[in-house]
Amino acid sequence: MTDKGTGAKGDRPLGLALKRGLRGLCPACGGARLFRRFLKPVEACPACGERWAERRADDFPAYLAILVTGHLLLPVIVEVNIQFDVGTLTQMIGWPLVAAGMALAMIQPLKGAVLGLLWAR
Ligand SMILES: [Zn+2]
Repeated sequence: MTDKGTGAKGDRPLGLALKRGLRGLCPACGGARLFRRFLKPVEACPACGERWAERRADDFPAYLAILVTGHLLLPVIVEVNIQFDVGTLTQMIGWPLVAAGMALAMIQPLKGAVLGLLWAR
């Protein structure tokens, strides 16, 4: 998909922009990578020229990553504690590592989706 999406607001489909952003592609055209480093977007898309350095997602991707991590992990923690006898020290070390890993895995796709949201709206 390399359609140009830099026209009027009606030319900016939200669902497509979110999908492209989640996959780390330019939400406008889907023809190039959105990030040059882990959370640093490219200055401008090499395929369509859309400028990404000027769009600020601020803390919203981190907020979403924490929100999703908490909602996914909490039932697992409760179920593990019901089913197994896991030591306190193991839990004090293990769950924060799992939570941090989940949040780190989600934050770049979520930032791409937030940039897609900002672009589409
Ligand atoms: Zn592009």
